[in-house]
Amino acid sequence: MARFSSPTALVTTLALLGLVAGSAACGSSEERAAYDPNQPAQIDTDGDGIPDSPDPNAPGATPAPQPGRVGCSGTSYTEPLPTTASLAGLTFSQAKAGEYLLSALERRYPLGKWLVDEGVARPLPGQPGTCLERFLSDKSSASRVLAQAGTVVHECGHFLDIGKSAARSAAYVIREDLELSCKSGDTTSRGGKTFARSLLKSDAYYAKRKACGGQVRQGCDMYADIYLTGSATDAAFDSGDQGFNSLLEEATQYVNSIATGLAFADQLQNQRVSERDGILTFLWYVERYLKMAREEYPDAYATLSTDACWRQAILSVWDRGWFYVEASRGKDNLEIDAPAIEELAKDPALTVEIDKLRSLECQ
Ligand SMILES: [Zn+2]
Repeated sequence: MARFSSPTALVTTLALLGLVAGSAACGSSEERAAYDPNQPAQIDTDGDGIPDSPDPNAPGATPAPQPGRVGCSGTSYTEPLPTTASLAGLTFSQAKAGEYLLSALERRYPLGKWLVDEGVARPLPGQPGTCLERFLSDKSSASRVLAQAGTVVHECGHFLDIGKSAARSAAYVIREDLELSCKSGDTTSRGGKTFARSLLKSDAYYAKRKACGGQVRQGCDMYADIYLTGSATDAAFDSGDQGFNSLLEEATQYVNSIATGLAFADQLQNQRVSERDGILTFLWYVERYLKMAREEYPDAYATLSTDACWRQAILSVWDRGWFYVEASRGKDNLEIDAPAIEELAKDPALTVEIDKLRSLECQ
């Protein structure tokens, strides 16, 4: 079965602020505009007596952005942003809702359309329907279809990556021109070298934002209810049993979710979606996972930090994720509790984990 457990775009209405968890998917503010998530932290996280953010000439300093190198763009990362091109002239009908969505994507977010086309071309073995057929569920109106665009692009992105992955390697299609396929990313019990993502519920950061327990509300982590479930040691398969490869895959697709949400933010009528919450949560998970790996699972950390493929994949998703967090800042209908999550994701004791990978990759 698919490597990825099955969650979704979490959609609420302004009136309810309650979950309308759309198509269950995936198989299974403060003023800190000047914040630089790649800025080295002014602390000595590993206690080696060397500040994590020494002067630029000191050993271990985070290298300056190098936009031409994969994983080394930092805050200089850029790609063509979605546009606000007019949707006038597109004809909506329930019978051709999928074609309508693709046409709208073509006008406003061509990369999103490409991801859907590529995902549609790769149905999951043994499962009926394309990603578009499976995840465009509400075809009642043009507005409802566009509100699901983020989910469709996200899920089709999974189908594309699954289709390109092999037994021991995970493919990450970041853009048309950037694809990485990295080895041994699943848990040790599933043939890889990492640990279950559910173990994040045992770290020191979990208490700062615990799982909501099935409710959708501010102040708790509704993604933990979907992605960090289960026990790493029992026999039953749970979503959270999957390893780092799956965590980074979700992060990859949550970038696509926010990018697509940005494309159609003006089309959401009295609706809020959680696209900014989603990517910020997964950026936070990636940092936490790296910290736990470095401190408690040396074999896992060696895999992720010494393999250029993993470093480049992590750093590319990180940079692209923050690019869209910034691009979507102020779009209130694309978030539910994003400022609180952003503060957690910017904890210097966690961002230093990205600095460490950056130093290894980009020196
Ligand atoms: Zn997903």
